[in-house]
Amino acid sequence: MKILSSPWPNPFLPAMSANFPLLRLKGTAGGFNVAPENPLRMYVCGITPYDATHLGHAATYLTFDLINRYQRLSGGQVNFVENITDIDEPLLERAKRDSTDWRSLAQQETDLFTEDMSALRLFAPDWFVPATQAMDLVDSAITAMDLNGFVYKLENDLYFRTSRFLDELPCPEDEAIEFFSERGGDPMRFGKEHPLDSVLWIANRDGEPGWDSSHGFGRPGWHIECAVISLRYLVGADFIHGDSTRPELIDIQGGGSDLIFPHHFMSAVQARAMTGQRFSRGYVHTGMIGLDGEKMSKSKGNLVFVSKLIADGVDPMIIRYALLKDHYSTDRMWSDQLLASAEADVLRIRQALSRNEVAPTVTTVERMIAAIGDDLDTPTAIDALMQWVGDTELGSTGGSTGEISRALDSVLGLAF
Ligand code: ZN
Repeated sequence: MKILSSPWPNPFLPAMSANFPLLRLKGTAGGFNVAPENPLRMYVCGITPYDATHLGHAATYLTFDLINRYQRLSGGQVNFVENITDIDEPLLERAKRDSTDWRSLAQQETDLFTEDMSALRLFAPDWFVPATQAMDLVDSAITAMDLNGFVYKLENDLYFRTSRFLDELPCPEDEAIEFFSERGGDPMRFGKEHPLDSVLWIANRDGEPGWDSSHGFGRPGWHIECAVISLRYLVGADFIHGDSTRPELIDIQGGGSDLIFPHHFMSAVQARAMTGQRFSRGYVHTGMIGLDGEKMSKSKGNLVFVSKLIADGVDPMIIRYALLKDHYSTDRMWSDQLLASAEADVLRIRQALSRNEVAPTVTTVERMIAAIGDDLDTPTAIDALMQWVGDTELGSTGGSTGEISRALDSVLGLAF
């Protein structure tokens, strides 16, 4: 796979003359503001392309799209980088199961992902970087961490000394070990210095794909890939030496809440081990989406795919609207009722927008912007919108449909 700059066309962003208050985000590791004066350096963990985009992915990328839009509308710039984990156990396993080549599977699912994202009107990353194109970066990063004393060898694999950062764990150590085990880690491997040490370089196993490096033939661990891709494309080619102009290396590290530990913790401490600098100013994590009262997961086989919904005739704007109805940080449920109620709301919005006379719009737009500026409070923004729809239905007048359409399109990405 190739490194792509802007992998799909960006949606048009209608300009707005409204005032955009400073964007405040609650953040997993503490609240922070996004000031438009500095380009926003945002890294969001991408997909492992062995299956189609499900609603959990869509909700995650939609969250960062709201940040992206708000920053642009505030007059700021965004440098947005996303990776593709196009080499990993699940991808190799799925390719083997389906007797297909892992590279073609990765390409096919990535193409489907870009189609879904484009249909949902998400801004494309400025750099969309497959892990397989980051081997040189991983190589030099491991060398730098090794020089700083953070690396040791176990058989032919290389491990990172997480033990240096135990006082920064986001949860008690025994819980961390449990999460580590559930989410791809190997706490019980014999010979490790500490159960939470994470693998940086996996020496080649029989028949698995591998790359030449100064640390032997093999492939990288997952966490180091995101650390180097984020730094290379947000800090620059000389990322090993950090960024002397800013206190942290990047501004936002984002993804689903299942990435808080170990993935984001490990990427952050590895970035620090190579540069000596703090990784991210803020961390934004999105809640998980379940289906009909159950957790949505590969193992349960109850994933709802965006491409399937669209193929079944669901308007992508209704999917987008339904995902915006709840706050990004909450765990929530998807159901046919939720989709039906989103369809009903969207019909009412479209009918209101087609009227000649509509309820006053200035305050509604202000309330929508203020809500998004306050930790992306989409439920409050939608309430303000539906209040306006209700007032319009009752015959209230004095507003402008153009004004509200522009706000829906720009701020929420809803083009009706
Ligand atoms: Zn990642």
